[in-house]
Amino acid sequence: MFLEQLERASLHLGDLAPLLETLRHPKRVLIVDVPVRMDDGRLLHFEGYRAQHSLARGPGKGGVRFHPGVNLSEVIALAGLMTVKNAVIGVPFGGAKGGVRVDPRALSRSELERLVRRYTSEIGVMIGPDRDIPAPDVGTDERVMAWMMDTYSVNAGRTVTGVVTGKPLALGGSRGRREATGRGVFIAGRSAALHLGLAIKDARVAIQGLGNVGGAAAACFHTAGAKIVSVQTSAGAYFNPQGFDPSVLAGLRAGGRSVGEHPGTETLAADAFWDVESEFLIPAALENQIDEAVARRLKTRVVVEGANGPTTPAADDVLAGRGVQVIPDVLANAGGVLVSYFEWVQDTTSYYWSEDEVNSKLDRLMAEAFTAVWDAAQASKLSLRTAAFVLACRRVLQARELRGLYP
Ligand code: GLU
Repeated sequence: MFLEQLERASLHLGDLAPLLETLRHPKRVLIVDVPVRMDDGRLLHFEGYRAQHSLARGPGKGGVRFHPGVNLSEVIALAGLMTVKNAVIGVPFGGAKGGVRVDPRALSRSELERLVRRYTSEIGVMIGPDRDIPAPDVGTDERVMAWMMDTYSVNAGRTVTGVVTGKPLALGGSRGRREATGRGVFIAGRSAALHLGLAIKDARVAIQGLGNVGGAAAACFHTAGAKIVSVQTSAGAYFNPQGFDPSVLAGLRAGGRSVGEHPGTETLAADAFWDVESEFLIPAALENQIDEAVARRLKTRVVVEGANGPTTPAADDVLAGRGVQVIPDVLANAGGVLVSYFEWVQDTTSYYWSEDEVNSKLDRLMAEAFTAVWDAAQASKLSLRTAAFVLACRRVLQARELRGLYP
């Protein structure tokens, strides 16, 4: 999918097109064996990865994913998406991604800690605050970042807060980082609404995934007066014509209870989620969710990609043909890495910002990036995704061209 998205951009790169080959290959990839002593005494081995797709514009940057489906080509593609995302949003980073093929929910807290520390130590040769800076992604969180920061620091013999972002506040984290991706998804949706003449107030929103991204996006849309009419989680799909209250949903989930217990909720067959009528559909789980068949069924106006890679290129074409606007991942979910950049800057200067400062900078830079991509798409009659790729590839390839080839 990533290579196909690059191909679509290649036709619009002018003189830079011959340099595109550099983005078809990751710069550097590490595969690591992560042995972990389980609580019952068994020794298990997990496969882990860190891929740096491009370092042309700065150090590598991108999350670490813990999921049973993690594999090498997925990590490389996600690293490529980070190269594009970081260039679209204009932060001075290349693109990277890491992961371990493991179900973190099947591990005890101490098994998880041992896995995180050994993985961090194994990829220690590649990461660092001026080399490559991991962050949370699917299946990882602040606690995992704290262990990563500590392990790297112990190995280095000094405290290095800037080696990861998405840390707890007490360890050099940034205010607003936890909600940043979801907040950015909302800002992208709001910007799209403005351009399309849609109102946010009373708009119907359907969300797949209520994790860090989906949960925060739901809260922002709800606060702005939209109605969260449907959610799909790994447990099933739910419909509520009056709209879910995200704070009630968060309480239910924190207590291990079902979304179905929210007052006024109807349980749907999981697949029926795609048939719910909405103005905004937010896939905020994993890749490859909207394929051609799903794209033909959707009854929405705008797809705002909270997840990375949720829509296949063939589905993009179907949606374009049906007049459904897709706000691509590399723009829509860039709020997370944008505030990661703010966190890295704060760690570097040891000067920390207020939540208002973080949120107003996030708001301004997301809205500016949205306008740049929207205007480019209008001017060249491209989809927002291809316009975002063209803009990003130009920035990365210009940097490559200026740096020249060594030796
Ligand atoms: N995992 C997030 C993403 O896919 C955030 C990455 C970061 O903050 O470095 O964009």
